Amino acid sequence: MTSRHPKMDQVISELTEILGTRCSTAAAVREQHGKDESWHFPKAPDAVCFARSTEEVSRIVSVCATHKVPVIPFAAGTSLEGHVNAVYGGVSIDLNEMNEILRVSPEDLDCTVQPGVRRKQLNEYLRDTGLFFPIDPGADASIGGMASTRASGTNAVRYGTMRENILSLKVVLPDGRVISTGHRAKKSAAGYDLTKLYIGSEGTLGIITEVTLRLYGIPEAISAATVSFPDIEGAIKSVILTIQSGIPVARIELLDEVQVDAVNRYSNLDLAVQPTLFLEFHGSSASVQEQAEQVSAICSEFGAEGFKWTTQAEERTKLWQARHDAAYAAMALRNGAQIWATDVCVPISRLADCILETKKDLAESFLVAPLVGHVGDGNFHLSFVIKKENPEELKEAERLNARLIERALSMDGTCTGEHGVGLGKKKYMYMEHGEAVDVMAAVKRALDPDNIMNPGKIIPDRAAE
Ligand SMILES: Cc1cc2nc3c(=O)[nH]c(=O)nc-3n(C[C@H](O)[C@H](O)[C@H](O)COP(=O)(O)OP(=O)(O)OC[C@H]3O[C@@H](n4cnc5c(N)ncnc54)[C@H](O)[C@@H]3O)c2cc1C
Repeated sequence: MTSRHPKMDQVISELTEILGTRCSTAAAVREQHGKDESWHFPKAPDAVCFARSTEEVSRIVSVCATHKVPVIPFAAGTSLEGHVNAVYGGVSIDLNEMNEILRVSPEDLDCTVQPGVRRKQLNEYLRDTGLFFPIDPGADASIGGMASTRASGTNAVRYGTMRENILSLKVVLPDGRVISTGHRAKKSAAGYDLTKLYIGSEGTLGIITEVTLRLYGIPEAISAATVSFPDIEGAIKSVILTIQSGIPVARIELLDEVQVDAVNRYSNLDLAVQPTLFLEFHGSSASVQEQAEQVSAICSEFGAEGFKWTTQAEERTKLWQARHDAAYAAMALRNGAQIWATDVCVPISRLADCILETKKDLAESFLVAPLVGHVGDGNFHLSFVIKKENPEELKEAERLNARLIERALSMDGTCTGEHGVGLGKKKYMYMEHGEAVDVMAAVKRALDPDNIMNPGKIIPDRAAE
């Protein structure tokens, strides 16, 4: 429990002068901004500011910097590691009203957007241009939030993550100055790569107020497929061989039998309750057919039954909506439950070992945890279906999560492939990065000497001191 910052009343009065009623201290507004979609216990900020421009963000940050008050950027609030919780109180800056698409250049395949633009909004807007933006976390997250968590999703196996798809950023620094981290050139060797530094920085180094993104042409043909396996090993080995064979799948997602059962109930599907792959192929009509045939042959080698594929847009949409709703399907398995989502990622050659050992752990536990994953990238999630008020359940999820992370790290993997560190993965940072964490802490201190930007996130406490 932290006490209210001594300068908070002064800060709220200065912010109200700038923003009027767009600086709110209403309890309901503060509560909504003190939590994400994770199991982490909420902590509300003291005030919430609704910003409408880079200039306003800069003025808000300057006020907070003068009084050394914490600032927590907030967008769609869909993150999964307590990222937006105001652990030391302070001011939450809500970026949802900065939701304009500022520029689209079809000839350069890029665009610039404000940070509050949602991923679905961007693709709706782009549809008539024949272009699309591929990164698709399950939730309808904001582009600024996705940049800040280095998000990815089901398409990353073909198109990369936010790291590969951002050309430059506009950022308000912790002292209120505004910088651009790059330009629109496809490549640049001009100095340190500040764009990459800010991607995944979770609001701890500044606030992103514009994002320049790469875009792609909507493929001429798209087909989707599902295929079930008698055992999970066959499914994973099919994924590994598909990737190693260089087949350019656009999506290849694994659902174990527990997750398939949950998805059938929640999304009204009638898939065989077996480990299943959801796939998508992009290209010309001939090439999607060829890719589907190649993957079907690989899957048969590993015992798959019933490779079903379709080019019907409606069926595809239903399938991928069900995939994106997998976490909600898991939650619906038990009344009043929350999800604790794990997020390890390992080199593809170690994926089978990692998942099989993890499934063994689960078989011996009393917790239910459907498994779903972006397995083409070696990334998968367990969703522990828990009631967080029950300490036994929290303790067991913590134990299984720790074993899983240690396993992934021993395989040269990472504790988080896409969700980010927030509060939940801080304790694994030294285990994963060793002394490199001290370098991260030094960068944080250099840019934010008073530790006002989303304090208490990413950097473990002992490195932050
Ligand atoms: C059902 C479900 C499925 C999901 N599936 C995926 C998935 O497949 N892949 C994936 O990667 N993630 C997934 N997520 C997690 C989440 O959607 C992503 O982490 C997303 O990128 C968060 O974006 P947001 O707009 O909600 O950000 P928020 O939750 O609002 O913020 C996230 C972090 O970024 C900071 N931040 C936000 N905006 C800015 C800004 N403009 N400048 C600086 N810092 C900022 C915040 O302070 C916070 O630290 C899923 C979540 C849910 C609930």
